[in-house]
Amino acid sequence: MGSIPSEEFNSSFHALLFPFMSKGHTIPLLHFARLLLRRNFSVTLFTTTANRPFIADSLSGTAASIVTLPFTVSTTNNDIPPGIESTDKLPSMSLFFEFAMATASIQPHFEQALETLPRVSFMVTDGFLWWTLQSANKFHIPRLVFFGMSCYSVSVFREAEMQGIFRGPQPDDELVELTRFPWIKICKEDLEPSSRNAEPGSIPYEFNVKSVGASVNSYGTVVNSFYELEPLFVDYLKTTNTSHKYWCVGPLCLADDVGSFSGTKEPKWMTWLHQKKKCSVLYVAFGSQAEISNEELEEIAMGLEESMVSFLWVIRKKDWVLPKGFEERVEGRGMAVREWVDQREILNDERVGGYVSHCGWNSVVESVCGGVPMVAWPMMAEQHVNARMVEEELKVGIRMETCDGKVRGSVKREGVSKCVKELMEGERGIQLRQNVKVLARLARMAVQEGGSSWSALDHLIHELCGKK
Ligand code: UDP
Repeated sequence: MGSIPSEEFNSSFHALLFPFMSKGHTIPLLHFARLLLRRNFSVTLFTTTANRPFIADSLSGTAASIVTLPFTVSTTNNDIPPGIESTDKLPSMSLFFEFAMATASIQPHFEQALETLPRVSFMVTDGFLWWTLQSANKFHIPRLVFFGMSCYSVSVFREAEMQGIFRGPQPDDELVELTRFPWIKICKEDLEPSSRNAEPGSIPYEFNVKSVGASVNSYGTVVNSFYELEPLFVDYLKTTNTSHKYWCVGPLCLADDVGSFSGTKEPKWMTWLHQKKKCSVLYVAFGSQAEISNEELEEIAMGLEESMVSFLWVIRKKDWVLPKGFEERVEGRGMAVREWVDQREILNDERVGGYVSHCGWNSVVESVCGGVPMVAWPMMAEQHVNARMVEEELKVGIRMETCDGKVRGSVKREGVSKCVKELMEGERGIQLRQNVKVLARLARMAVQEGGSSWSALDHLIHELCGKK
């Protein structure tokens, strides 16, 4: 089927989106909302009180409606302070599973709201909000899952699970070949210890069972990726479980233009960046959830200082302490930013030539779209597998050197300095930059009319809404 011009779609189609309460899960669905609005859909976004301002701000000027639901996190031992409605604000990510389980308290409010809405064509809800499948079934609405992972990582985890790699007797860091994809080797440490060691009856175990179970029983999955980025893995997912559909409709970050600054006072980092030469600045950022010890921060800082490269570093948390005198010593050459930045704008700036990334999937996709190669320093969730994809599969980055060579090993300043110099000044950096620029072009083609992601969205709409 060829692509269908947007006018063919009926504006009475209504999609309902419910992102999980974290920036990394919300941002791509906001982009998806824009895509649907552009196809003449009515879009209703569900969120909770504290998360509403971010969503309302991002979608201001659009016709999207926002429904706000109450959410009171109540856990058995009250270890999540009252008023926290987003994982970005949790005192520790070790509370993630308790938080995610507690979202089920929203279900009655969600269903009350569903009763009042005009007919819904389909809902796209986050994979962590497993209980939305029950509601979808009750109201006869097809539920699509949004997981925010690549097809590569879903395929690798699925195959590793089937091979029993995570429960095998081998040491945690021993690499095992995947039978289905023999060029990929992974180890137990590629999976989060909390998931790897989850015992039946524990909160992580129950959460995984619920969210995976609800996902496979949902109509399909919307993926923030594009076919040309990972064709083998898209095909694998589509053919190994034909009762569950996958639609690669990304990169979602290309759904709207990278904003050129329109406020009254240009942020300091922007003014600083604009004075730099093409491809000369290393961007350093670890997403919206990373937890980094002061020892690691010191090693990163000292590594950046020793490397002599120019860098823009986003310091996410107020309690992240940089070494004494660091900012004075690197003044002019390096800048530490302690505010929310427009990451897409930075990664699309021609002055940025490399990115030290935690490999959150959005950040990987945004870096690919910006044509920026990476030093991959994964920390949690599926980021270790993303880092493998970046280095081994896509060949657009290098892994951060760890002092003992282990997947979850600590970093030392010498390793940091060596890796960033290799990326910014070395032969390998030149090759990686060429590779990522090819993918950046393919990404743009995928979202253009007739491109693979454009057509995937056409198919999704036709399948779920039918023709006019
Ligand atoms: N982000 C941003 N500004 C910041 C920090 C993060 O725009 O100062 C965005 C980033 O562009 C990405 C998202 O937040 O879209 C982070 O998602 P990712 O999957 O990379 O990592 P997570 O935060 O979920 O670990």
